[in-house]
Amino acid sequence: MKIKTRLSFLFTLFSAVLLGGFTYAIYLSYVYNREEEFFKKIQLQAITKADLLLAAKVDANTLQTIYESSYNVLFQEEVAIYDTKFDLLYHDAVEIDIVKETAGMLQEISQEGEIFFKQGDWQVVGIRYEFEGEIYLITAAAYDAYGYQKLENLKYSLIVILIITLFIIYLISWIFSNQALKPLVNLNQEIEKISASNLDLRLSTKERDEIRQISESFNHMLDRLEKSFNAQKHFISNIAHELRTPLAALMAELEIATLKKKNKEELLNAVKSSLDDAKRMRELIQDLLDLAKASFDSTEIKIHSLRVDELLMETTIALKKDSPDYKVHLQIDEMEELNLEILGNPYLLSVTFRNLIENACKFSSDKSCRICVKNAVDKVVILFEDNGPGIPEVDQERIFEPFYRGENQHVATGTGIGLSLCQKITELHNGKIHFSSIMGHGSIFTLTLSSK
Ligand code: ADP
Repeated sequence: MKIKTRLSFLFTLFSAVLLGGFTYAIYLSYVYNREEEFFKKIQLQAITKADLLLAAKVDANTLQTIYESSYNVLFQEEVAIYDTKFDLLYHDAVEIDIVKETAGMLQEISQEGEIFFKQGDWQVVGIRYEFEGEIYLITAAAYDAYGYQKLENLKYSLIVILIITLFIIYLISWIFSNQALKPLVNLNQEIEKISASNLDLRLSTKERDEIRQISESFNHMLDRLEKSFNAQKHFISNIAHELRTPLAALMAELEIATLKKKNKEELLNAVKSSLDDAKRMRELIQDLLDLAKASFDSTEIKIHSLRVDELLMETTIALKKDSPDYKVHLQIDEMEELNLEILGNPYLLSVTFRNLIENACKFSSDKSCRICVKNAVDKVVILFEDNGPGIPEVDQERIFEPFYRGENQHVATGTGIGLSLCQKITELHNGKIHFSSIMGHGSIFTLTLSSK
């Protein structure tokens, strides 16, 4: 069901309950008033008849004639008058005799003074009437045909008015909800125009209403999407470029090697340089694979309890196998009671350690890296220190961007992915990475991870 139909329907339902309640209350109050009024009327008529019979001494036959001659009028009551011995003195219509008076009923009238009750649709009144020291008991019954007719008319009028009112309410609420939801329909039309090819389009935020908040949030989401979409495009073209350069160099080397007759040494140099290009490509592919793994949802990554010092040692041993000239000094404060246990993914964390150690070693003139492990409150802090050229100020803001390589890139080869990878992995572990650097003296990269 559409929202506007649902809104109109709910509003009409609510109105129906409310109006239905009111209407019923009006009807009930009319029912009650009619009954009260009619009892009073019967009472008065009964007393009048008793007065005529007893005070005005109108004889019973005359009263009977009056009764019979007005038999067809809408309001007609049947009166019976008894004396204290319960002997019938007068009866309007003995042959009809609506109220079957019993000794008990007359006794009750005598005791109570007056009683009111209903016999089917007929209303009955019992009155104790005193005249010249004598007590008389009167019963009077009447059927309020006129009142019941009015009640019936009122019922139908109320039902018809209720139905017409509800129909009008439904129409009005439908028009209102249509009007209220119009901005949403417009918003939807605007959203439908946005696709991957025009991600720069934004929703209008001119109106000062709730829709404006949705539009603003949607526009912010579009900003983020556009940024990441552009970053992806940029990233892919960077990958293509980075892979094409060593591949082109490799092909060129191999082509030249096949063109002329070369001596053994020249051929060996060509193979060596081709091998370097192939290694560069392998490094880049490995970095990309790691980046893809680190870009996973954190819930997808298996987390284990591990010791930072052990993982640092394992990573150093593996790195030294590939680059035996690197010098890594691991310093762990043995004086302190250190808690080096953390929760993390060993593979991803070793990729981070390896990148930071590798960067430090490759940029240091003596290929060395000093690692220092410390404890802070609930944290393990690892510092990777080098004595390289430092990071120029212009690069400092951007070195964590994928494929960004600083002004000092001529000092060492690389892909520009390492630090962005470190940052992603650290974020996945709810940790922090930052650096400080002094030109000409070296840099310190600090990794902070929560301890277990
Ligand atoms: P890569 O090292 O492959 O170029 P990274 O993402 O690891 O890529 O580093 C990005 C840039 O940050 C590097 O090109 C370099 O300019 C700078 N950088 C990173 N680590 C150091 C360091 N220890 N000393 C100096 N510069 C560094």
